[in-house]
This record gives sequence, C-alpha cells and structure tokens, in this order.
Amino acid sequence: MKVHELVLPAVGKLMPYIPGKPVSELERELGIKNIHKLASNENPLGPSPLALAAVRSALDSLYLYPDGSGFELKAALARKLAVDAGQITLGNGSNDVLELVARAFLSNDTAAVFSEHAFAVYPIVTQAVGAEARIACAGDGVSTARYGHDLEAMLALIDEKVRVIFIANPNNPTGTWLRRSELEHFLARLPDYVITVIDEAYFEYVSEPEYPDALQWLPKHPNLIVTRTFSKAYGLAGLRAGYAVSSPEIADYLNRVRQPFNVNSLALAGAAAALDDAAHLNSTVQLNSAGLLQLSQAFVTRGLDFIPSVANFITVDVGRTALEVYETLLRAGVIVRPVANYGLPRHLRVSVGTAKQNNAFLDALDQA
Ligand code: PMP
Repeated sequence: MKVHELVLPAVGKLMPYIPGKPVSELERELGIKNIHKLASNENPLGPSPLALAAVRSALDSLYLYPDGSGFELKAALARKLAVDAGQITLGNGSNDVLELVARAFLSNDTAAVFSEHAFAVYPIVTQAVGAEARIACAGDGVSTARYGHDLEAMLALIDEKVRVIFIANPNNPTGTWLRRSELEHFLARLPDYVITVIDEAYFEYVSEPEYPDALQWLPKHPNLIVTRTFSKAYGLAGLRAGYAVSSPEIADYLNRVRQPFNVNSLALAGAAAALDDAAHLNSTVQLNSAGLLQLSQAFVTRGLDFIPSVANFITVDVGRTALEVYETLLRAGVIVRPVANYGLPRHLRVSVGTAKQNNAFLDALDQA
C-alpha cells in the first residue's frame, strides 16, 4: 500500500502550520543582514534578564531529566494568579496545552467550534484527532468586531456533537477582543457538555477596562480552561513554556495525556524567573502600546484599512494581493506575516517592534 492510503484520513487532510520566516532563512536566501523580523509576535525587548540568568544557572543540570511535575513553576504561577497549583497544566508552549485539550476531549465522533480567522492551531489540533472543525462566521463590524468572534454565530453551531470551543481573546491574527459582559453572557448559555478554552496568549498586553481576566470565571464554570504563554509579553518564545488553568479535575485529565517531560528544565527555570520581572513586563507593555499607536496612525495617514488591535501585532489591508507586498518587504529585509491561510488574502500581519523596527517596516511598505 502507498503511504497516502495508510495515513489517517484526517491527518491526510491537515494543512501544516506555517510559521513566520526565520531570520536565518532569509539571510541564507537573499544574503542580506540587518533583518527585522516582525512576523511571529515576539517581544522586541527580548527575554527578561532575570529569565536569562535563571536559564544560565540551570545549564549545569541538563544531564538530569526536568522536574516532570513542574513543581516550582506551578507554585510560582499559583501564587501569582491566586489559584491552586493543582489547577495548572504546563505545556511546551501553550500550543502543547491546546493539543492536550484536543486529545483529552475530542475524537472522531465529536466536533470543535472556533471562529473564522481564529488561531491556526485550533483546526490543526481538532483535525489531528479526527474531530470535525466547525467554523463560525466572523463578526461583520455591526454588533461584533469586524473579523473578530461572533459569539452568537458560535452558539448557533453547537449541538450534542460539540465538545470543545476555542476562543482567543484577543484573537490572532486579527487583534480583536471580547468584552467581559459578552463572554460572561456566552458562558452562561453553554450546555454542560462543552469545554470552553479561552486562549489568553496576549493577555498581558491588554489594558482595556472591559477586557476580562477569564480566570475569574473558573469557580463558576467547571468546564472552562484558560490558556496563557511565556512566548509573548514574557519574551521567551524560543524556550517553549505555556500553561492552562482549569478545575483540578480537568488538569488531572490533561496530565494523563501529557508527555512526561513536556517542559524542559531551562524553560521551567526561565519561566519562573520571568514571572518575577515586573519591570521588564511593564516596559514591554509600554513599548507595545506606543508601537500600536505608531502603526495605527501610520496606516490612517496612508489611507490603509487596518483591524484595530489590542495585542502585540496589527493586521492591515494592503489593498492588493498581500503576498506580493510580503515578498517585496522580504527583499527590503523586513519579515511580516501573510495571512491568506487565515482567509485574509489582502492583509498582512505585522508584529509591533521597537519604534525603529516599525519605521523600517513602514519605509519598506511605502516603497512596495
Ligand atoms: N494562542 C494564540 C492565540 C497564539 O497566537 C499563539 C502563538 N502564535 C499561541 C496560542 C501559542 O503560542 P505558544 O505555543 O508559543 O505559547
């Protein structure tokens, strides 16, 4: 038999995740230096010095397996978030945790619901376990944010087959967000056979007064899972550390499908130390707010339609096939992210950089 006949049909239909182009790849391809990567929503300030010091001091123990229970990182998170350590599941990035949810709660006779233009990993983890992906139409900009989640449309897709709903707040790649009242109302109307994942990968960046901290709903909603990451505001994307907070019961099931040492020892040490660096987090958030403003104003000046964002990236309609503009930007040494695979072929997503990086992007865009 041919391999394509052997592979699971659901896996055969999967489209692999397309990451932002690495700097080293562009260097190899074009032989250029001084590249600005604004493609993967990384922190332009880099990692916290405290995290780096902790990673360095963990190096000598690399011959040992990591603490498979992640005791210290969980204890540090529990203190910070005012939850019980037994409610936390650690992951090799929050992507890992999203996959654990799919493995624990989805199968080929169930379905997951998520929004059009939502994070690309939701369809991957759903389809990889053979579950049906149900995609709700995005907001039309009238009663819900344009391109954002339309919670009514998501509710309309729920029947007994649905086991998981994925909601990113804020959403990637649109940067749109849901208010406390909207989500609260939504959670109250969900049937008890549905697990809701509220993905807060960009939580730390949002300062809108109506933006909710979904952890507040855990006591009332036993089927809720909140996911967060050290990859974005904590500047540790390369280390791979993320986590879920849920009921202890859900955490117990996620733990059963987790690889024994899914978070490496450097990540455990670095993430715990990063939590203590309030100054670095604060500078990160300040720089991001300034950058969002800089980019939004620049788009307004240029008459470009963009999706208002509260995260560390912003998605702009370049008014033509975005792939061409993306390639021209690459030749100018600026890597951004085309989002045609998210159903947005005329948009580019740009991560917020330093003022200098943002200017380099804008200059290249003006030339494109
Ligand atoms: N959720 C969302 C909405 C994201 O944008 C990302 C990163 N692109 C993740 C989760 C996963 O990030 P990580 O695995 O690095 O924690």
